[in-house]
Amino acid sequence: MTTALLYDPIFLEHITPENHPDKPERLQMAMNVLEALDWLKRDGLTLLAPRAASEDELAAVHERSYIHTVEEAARKAAEIHAGGGRNTQRFATDTYVSPKSYEAAIRAAGAPLTAIDAIMKGEIDNAYCLVRPPGHHAVAEAAMGFCLFNNVAVAARYALDHYGLKRVMIIDFDVHHGNGTQEMFYDDPRVLYFSTHQAPFYPGTGQSNERGEGEAEGTTINVPLPATSGYEIFEPVFRQVMAPAADRFDPQLILVSAGFDAHWDDPLGQLNLSTAGFAQLMKVIIEEARFLCNGRLVLVQEGGYSLDAMAACVATCINLLLGDDAAVDSLGQPPHMPYRINTDVLIAELRRLHHLTGYRMRNAPKPDIARLRREVKGPDA
Ligand SMILES: [Zn+2]
Repeated sequence: MTTALLYDPIFLEHITPENHPDKPERLQMAMNVLEALDWLKRDGLTLLAPRAASEDELAAVHERSYIHTVEEAARKAAEIHAGGGRNTQRFATDTYVSPKSYEAAIRAAGAPLTAIDAIMKGEIDNAYCLVRPPGHHAVAEAAMGFCLFNNVAVAARYALDHYGLKRVMIIDFDVHHGNGTQEMFYDDPRVLYFSTHQAPFYPGTGQSNERGEGEAEGTTINVPLPATSGYEIFEPVFRQVMAPAADRFDPQLILVSAGFDAHWDDPLGQLNLSTAGFAQLMKVIIEEARFLCNGRLVLVQEGGYSLDAMAACVATCINLLLGDDAAVDSLGQPPHMPYRINTDVLIAELRRLHHLTGYRMRNAPKPDIARLRREVKGPDA
């Protein structure tokens, strides 16, 4: 397998106030761990510099006036800082903008576009975009939840608009619901949005009866989970709900909103996944991508606020993308007993709600690569 890691030191220059969960150290620590493992020089791993997303590419999902507001806020932050003021300014409730935030944000949005280009040209199989600011809370006209531009949504629209893909799946296992992503594709049947998240929890959306609307009814799948749910609940949700839903939708590309704040060590989330648990879920996703879309898979960093857990999860995902099957897990299993809910009942109810009854994994036909090629315009088309 050939895997790309997309990272740029500009992501460290998006500055937040002290004690803000989204600190630059999150990415720094992940890079340190990859370096310590000597994995940056590993066979099969390519380092790609993310290009900046263009205004038009951002405007596929964001209002132009909002894009200009972010740019202007960063310019103003630079002025304030140059005049001796603080190096970061409040932009929305919990979201901050520093002098280099716009530059970081357009490259965070551009990273998965760079990855998609390389995948479509056949240069790589899959990619990990180690970026910040994160994206899945950002809505068309506003920043939210540490997010400026919705990176994964920009990527999905790019794959549809630029490469003529007809079906893109987004899997979001961040502990928070990706309200922005859901909203952007709520009436778009070309994008299947699947999210597991803690509920009740920020941002409050993501009930299981939010299923998309109009022609897109059924292409939003929400799995709200009570605090302390752990791997024993995630595993059947992924195998018995996510996988058959993916098989039925038959995506041509899978994007992942890869947040690791559902880790038991995370200071914000209260779900109980271990790094090894994340690895098992990733294996199901990788299996789906291989089976359905020639292995085309792009992971885009969202949350994850325990520095140790996030770095271990990033390294684990890269290891799995490269074809190895082991987790990088020094933190071990969750210290708490998972809250017992009847998993069989939960799964049966989710399968009923999404009309997956009678639809088992591997019912989908083998991917027809010739048809896939016909449907997908090449980069030069
Ligand atoms: Zn999150």
